[in-house]
This record gives sequence, C-alpha cells and structure tokens, in this order.
Amino acid sequence: LQVALRIRPMSTAELAEGARPIAHRVDKQVVVLRDPLEDPDDVLRASRSREKSYVFDVAFDSMATQETVYRATTRGLIAGIISGYNATVFTYGPTGCGKTYTMLGTEGEPGICARMLGDLFQAIEDTSGDMEYEVSMSYLEIYNEMIRDLLNPSLGCLQLREDASGTVQVAGITEVSAINAEEVMQLLVRGNRQRTQEPTAANRTSSRSHAVLQVAVRQQRRGRGLHRGRLFMIDLAGSERAAQTQNRGQRMKEGAHINRSLLALGNCIKALSDQASTKYINYRDSKLTRLLKDSLGGNSRTVMIAHISPASTAFEESRSTLAYAHRAKSIRTTVRHNLLSVSYRVAQYGSVTADLCRDIQRLKGQGHAEPGQLGQAQVQRRGARCTHPELGRVQEELLGACREQAAPRHLLLRLEGTELHAQHLLAPYVGAKPPPGMGSPGEPGWGKEGRGEPDGPGDSGRDSDTGNKRLDVPEPPDVAAAHESIAAVVEERGTLQQ
Ligand code: ADP
Ligand code: MG
Repeated sequence: LQVALRIRPMSTAELAEGARPIAHRVDKQVVVLRDPLEDPDDVLRASRSREKSYVFDVAFDSMATQETVYRATTRGLIAGIISGYNATVFTYGPTGCGKTYTMLGTEGEPGICARMLGDLFQAIEDTSGDMEYEVSMSYLEIYNEMIRDLLNPSLGCLQLREDASGTVQVAGITEVSAINAEEVMQLLVRGNRQRTQEPTAANRTSSRSHAVLQVAVRQQRRGRGLHRGRLFMIDLAGSERAAQTQNRGQRMKEGAHINRSLLALGNCIKALSDQASTKYINYRDSKLTRLLKDSLGGNSRTVMIAHISPASTAFEESRSTLAYAHRAKSIRTTVRHNLLSVSYRVAQYGSVTADLCRDIQRLKGQGHAEPGQLGQAQVQRRGARCTHPELGRVQEELLGACREQAAPRHLLLRLEGTELHAQHLLAPYVGAKPPPGMGSPGEPGWGKEGRGEPDGPGDSGRDSDTGNKRLDVPEPPDVAAAHESIAAVVEERGTLQQ
C-alpha cells in the first residue's frame, strides 16, 4: 500500500476565522503537525515537543500541482492495468480537505481521474498494434450501505452478486464501453452531479457517500490468452466524526453506515497486509469491502491519498487522519519485509518454544517415553514416522495448541472489530482520543494496544503526542453504559490475547 499525504491550501473561511497553518510538509516524505492549543509555559510538558512528524511515501503541500500529485502517485499504475493487474486508488480524509479536488479536480485543473484515463487510453493506443482492447466503465455510489448507479440513478438500489469465477459484480449496473478519456470524463461529471450531497455543518456540499469508478480493461494478444485489469478509483466519504459535523438523527445513522465501510476497509487492509496473521479477512462487513474483495485481496496495487487542511481549527481531524494514513503506510512495510513479521511471531511464541525445547532435551536425556495424556497406541503410531516417539508427542501437542488457538483468534478479531466500531461511535465523547486502533498506550479508559506489532517508523521514536484533552461534552448514561461494555470487551480481548 502506497500512502500519499496532501495538504490543501488554507480556505478563505479558515483565514476569515483567524486560523493559522499548523501542518507543514518538511521534506518529500515528512509532514509535521503542531498542536495549536498546547501551552508553551507548561513546565511539565516543556521537555516534549509540541510537534509530531509523520512519514509517508510522498507528501504534498498547497504548492503541489495536480500534475505533480498524479505523477508521484498513480501514473505508475497504468502499465499494470492494461496488462491484467488490478489497481485501486482511494482518496481519504475529512470533508472539505480536497478529496474530490484530487480525484476529479476542476476544468482548468483536472484531477488524477482525467489524467490517468488520458494516459490509459494513450497506452492502449500505443500498443494496439499487437493487442486488442476492450474498455468498459461503471460509476456507482455507496450511500448508507446502499448501492446506486450514478450513470442511471433510476435503477434504484442495486445488489452485489458473486459470479461463477468468484468475482463480485453489481447486478444490473450500467456498463459503458468507453472509447476515449473525454467520453469517460463526461460520464463522470454527469454521474457526479447525481451523487448524494446533503448539507452538513462542516461543508454545505459535503458528500456523505463513497463514489466508486470502475474501469475494466480486457487485453487480448492475437492467439494468446485474455488479460483483465480492473481499476477502481474511489472518492471516499468524509472521515470526520459525526459529532463534529453536528449531525443529528438520520445523518448520525448514515454516519455510522458510512463509517462502517471506512472501518471495514481499514480492517481489511490491515488484515491483508499482515501476512503472518490469520487468513480471516472480513470482506463481508461492508458493501465497499465486498466490492473491492478481488481488488484488495488479489494482484492489486493500491494507493491511498490522504488529505488534511493546514488550519489550526482542523487540528483534531488532521491528527486522526495523519495517524490513520501513517498506520496504513507502516502496514506496507510489514508486507515488504516478511522477515519482520516472522521474527515478531518467534518472539511472541519464543517462550513456549523454549519450554518445548527443554522438554525435548530432557526426554532425550532420559531416553524413555512419558506417555503423558496420550494413549500408548497413539504414541506408537506416531513413533513410526518420528525419530523419537516423544518428539512426535510434542509435535502433536504443538499442532493441537495451534488448532485450539484458531477459535480464540477468530473471536479476538471479531472483538477487535466490535471495539473499533464502538470506539469510533464514542469518539466524540472522549475528546482528543486518537482514532480507533491507534490509541496511545496508557490513555485513560482504553485498553492498552498490546498487539505487539512492530511499530512503524516515527510512531514511537518521534513521539511528542499531545496527551489527553477532553472536550466539554457531558457523558450521557447510555454512553457511560457503552463505555462499560467496551471495558468488558477490552478485558476479554486481553484474556484471549494471553
Ligand atoms: P472533499 O472532497 O474532501 O470534501 P473538496 O475536494 O471538495 O473536499 O475540497 C474542498 C474545497 O477546497 C474545494 O473548493 C476545492 O476546490 C478546494 N481545494 C481542495 N484542495 C485544493 C488544492 N490542493 N488546491 C486548491 N484548492 C483546493
Ligand atoms: Mg468530496
């Protein structure tokens, strides 16, 4: 997963309310965020920096042009797409921070969609001597866990189906054969006007839906097999908390649904990237992840472009966005260096292994078998294929332990999912708490992270986090009850982890 971070320019509204820029790009890969509220005279914190830096694959500030962003992020995906690989591009971030600007852009400053499609059709043309291509596209939105065809909204709510080959399709969606980039862009502009846009306090035209453009390329070389590449370009709904957009009632429910897709996406990316961990990946949790199953789990290259505002008034949102995106980036490191995850597993099970080794040594030294809990017949049977019958017993026990672990492991994953979701819903009531899954250890009221995963660079080393400021929001009784439930979940998680 390649993660880029883009800081948009200060908006006129932000300047009007006296906001100062607090997010800066300090070099090609590093962004620094300064806490605008921290008291510089606070002696207790004097030794801690008020700044926190985050490292990405590439970082852009307000000076970066659309062309620069395109070249550094998604241009490199084109060759793969036309030769049968999947590619996925997400824009992530709070409403009003520039997701749609990056994706679609304006007429004078087209975004990565138009640029990518332009180059895609160019690449097709350049190689059309040897190959035959078929390009088709569809454009849909996921709003409140319902799928709408943006090219033909009158079709109503569409369903996902899995075809014979296991590919998830949207049943009945309009697929348009595309001939050139201009045609596709016209369709996009038309489709975008159909997006569900409702006023919220954060941004009057904020989009509460995920917009998904899918471009399918079929390539056939004369006398050879068929390659299919799928490109997903996804303008995600705003990642802000429901409370900060002052949403109420219906909007609040929608927020939960929209975030269900965002959370599920985060969980899937995490599970997919951690190759050493369980194979259980919960695509079925949301429409978005079901649709992207192939693209995420298969031979897809994925780019996330996260967006923040530089303004002091957007500090909390910027901090959670930077943390989410930074975490996504450190996941990729784990994928690349499998050795890292292996050594982590070894460390985790190291003590168990050491015990077993001692047992084996002891038994070898004794030179006789201790049947233990197993029947003599079993020991003898295994003895046939093991050099030492007790070695066989130990192996069997180890295997049994692994099998036993599978169930709690599964449960643990589900608990983590529940906890993440609950924490997210409760986020408005815990003030400056970082987003789910990224809590700093020792934060009051929340379970310690304790997953033992290798931290990404800069996560701890550069730590100058700003601690626990709480918003002045009184905690309603149901929220207090929910907190208690979460505490129970956290406790259970701890037990399971042990
Ligand atoms: P989002 O889709 O994340 O809600 P938008 O893309 O609609 O946000 O951006 C909000 C506003 O900021 C728009 O008016 C957009 O044109 C402007 N904007 C965002 N990013 C940039 C940028 N890098 N340069 C200039 N204007 C930008
Ligand atoms: Mg938008």
